[in-house]
Amino acid sequence: MKRLTSINSLDGGCPELIIRAHHLLCMRGFQGYGYSREFIDNMERILKWIHDNPKKPIMIVDFPDDICAACPFLDESACLRAEDTVRLMDQMLMDLMGIKSGDELTSTEIDDLISPIIDSPELTEICCECSWIDVCLVHRNP
Ligand code: SF4
Repeated sequence: MKRLTSINSLDGGCPELIIRAHHLLCMRGFQGYGYSREFIDNMERILKWIHDNPKKPIMIVDFPDDICAACPFLDESACLRAEDTVRLMDQMLMDLMGIKSGDELTSTEIDDLISPIIDSPELTEICCECSWIDVCLVHRNP
């Protein structure tokens, strides 16, 4: 599978996993839905990698990532459906988390930043344009 990391890495490094910020929420809400079988398989592979590598850093960005790499709507380096919208979603979440594009965090550090804001109204605002919101676990009350 084509990987975007090497051309997009901000500091010349090449982290093992690059995730655009709003996908940190999507991964929490994922329950098997996606744009194609390849997309779903890739998401599951990434979730397993994160589970198996809790201490490895993940680079958080505001451009297409390792999840987008298997998406049928990715065109080279932009989302064909709504790159501007998803980039705004990335920025809104990074602002809430107090991080910036290019920062590297472990999955534990990411959880520590997202857990306190998971029920905040700002998350509904971030996700309001998403077609998966009705089936996303992030937005389903227990
Ligand atoms: S509602 Fe959509 S954008 Fe928001 S976390 Fe769920 S899948 Fe991601």
